[in-house]
Amino acid sequence: MDHLFLVKYAEIGIKGKNRHLFEDALMRQIRYALKKLPGSYGVSKSSGRIFVNCEDAGSCDMDAVADALGRVFGISAFCPVSCGTDRSLEAICQSTVEYVRSNYPEHDFTFKVETRRADKSYPLTSMEVEAAVGEAILNALPGLRVDVHEPEEMIHVEIREQIYIYSRIIKGPGGMPVGTGGKAMLLLSGGIDSPVAGYMIAKRGVILDAVYFHAPPYTSDRAKQKVIDLAEQVARYAGPIYLHIINFTDIQLAIYENCPHDELTIIMRRYMMIIAERLARQSDCLGLVTGESIGQVASQTMKSLLATDDASTLPVYRPLIGFDKQEIIDKSLAIGTYETSILPFEDCCTIFVAKHPVTKPNLNIIKRSEMKLAGQIDRLLEEAIASDELVVAGK
Ligand code: ATP
Ligand code: MG
Repeated sequence: MDHLFLVKYAEIGIKGKNRHLFEDALMRQIRYALKKLPGSYGVSKSSGRIFVNCEDAGSCDMDAVADALGRVFGISAFCPVSCGTDRSLEAICQSTVEYVRSNYPEHDFTFKVETRRADKSYPLTSMEVEAAVGEAILNALPGLRVDVHEPEEMIHVEIREQIYIYSRIIKGPGGMPVGTGGKAMLLLSGGIDSPVAGYMIAKRGVILDAVYFHAPPYTSDRAKQKVIDLAEQVARYAGPIYLHIINFTDIQLAIYENCPHDELTIIMRRYMMIIAERLARQSDCLGLVTGESIGQVASQTMKSLLATDDASTLPVYRPLIGFDKQEIIDKSLAIGTYETSILPFEDCCTIFVAKHPVTKPNLNIIKRSEMKLAGQIDRLLEEAIASDELVVAGK
């Protein structure tokens, strides 16, 4: 019996003619997730199921494989499975008994056998197979009892070109395979929220590019490294992320020197949007993504968001819009970005921050303030875009 995982996927199963595109994207993402693990793996598909095979059983770490599959969007569940090539009823019975014997240390629970015949030409019906396998288990392991209504363990037997036996079903992350939903530009800061926002958009199948606005010497190289580390962590789920690092210092200084201080954050955010949109259009991104949620801080009131949105003609996706801070923290803990996010390095929004920022900015007034930058902002924007340093996270 070879050891492998059977991968189940729900949402993508309903996509009609596009189904094979989704399956191919899912297989590609599974291969990506397994790439860095020791050992070599085969990933293949067969009518509504994907199989991951450990090609060299000696060097495969099943826990590491399970951990990796747990990060692949599109997987609804996966099951450690035993498989065999002999499809005779006798072999199925024997293999299933062997499976139960070796996977359960104690043999005193109720069970039910459930058979699925993906190969409809198989000469026996599902019920015949179930009855024979159930009986074989009862005879071989006397402590077990059948309960067809509420079994403690469901023993699944799938008959395909081979037979597959499994009983443990591990929940996957759900969502859609990355690569099936277009591409978006994530505004990634060093905080708690934006990595979570990126995770959530990637979960819907979207490839992420990212941009970080850096303000040396006001923000340090360590702050920049923290953002690169966060991009690496998000890439564990999202696949490779092209992270643009933009030098934002001169724009920030110009705003600071020329515009009312209570409007600094909003104006700065608007220029971030303008640059993010430029980068997004260069790389076929269909939208921008931020970690904002309504009312979290002054720059995230409805009026502030209106003013921010106005700077970009691309849609701005804000997957955390209705989340409380604690919910975002819980999510960042779950996906593993929290520890990095709370490292205490300065970010450019906190250095040039007003004591009393406007909470209800008036767009016309903001635009009038921006006029004060008229003589220099075009050049500063070009220079900022030219400063682009590209880092590929999750290669
Ligand atoms: P985060 O935890 O993501 O930093 P936050 O609660 O600190 O969010 P803000 O600092 O107001 O919120 O930023 C709001 C959003 O703007 C961020 O979620 C991020 O998408 C974007 N953003 C802010 N600063 C930067 C930056 N320096 N580079 C890139 N994006 C940024
Ligand atoms: Mg922040």
